[in-house]
Amino acid sequence: MADQDPRAIVPQAVRAPMGGDTVEIEWADGHRGILPNALLRGYCPCASCQGHSGQIRFVPGHNAVIDQIEEVGSYALQFTWGDGHNSGIFTFRYLRRLCACPTCLPGSPVEARTEIPRSAT
Ligand SMILES: [Zn+2]
Ligand SMILES: [Zn+2]
Repeated sequence: MADQDPRAIVPQAVRAPMGGDTVEIEWADGHRGILPNALLRGYCPCASCQGHSGQIRFVPGHNAVIDQIEEVGSYALQFTWGDGHNSGIFTFRYLRRLCACPTCLPGSPVEARTEIPRSAT
């Protein structure tokens, strides 16, 4: 599987154009990831969005404007949203799992808005 290539979870560039609605991640294995802002916010893995148990699920309806993106400890990204929410830590592995590019979308958890095991985060 592609995600066993360690380069698949090493981002080389993260782009979130001001006023845009999509984050692009260039991965070290050459994959160009596409992550709609609303998808990222909906799958925010933090405890206030997801509770403390069960699968990660898509939570609609929250502010999906990205104010800031920061790298956390070389393993994750932290987004600050337009409503000030910033407690979600998105590991690179999780971001790759959420990829909604045309290659990944068929069968991805994103297309069907299915739940994702916590172990994937
Ligand atoms: Zn959250
Ligand atoms: Zn992809």
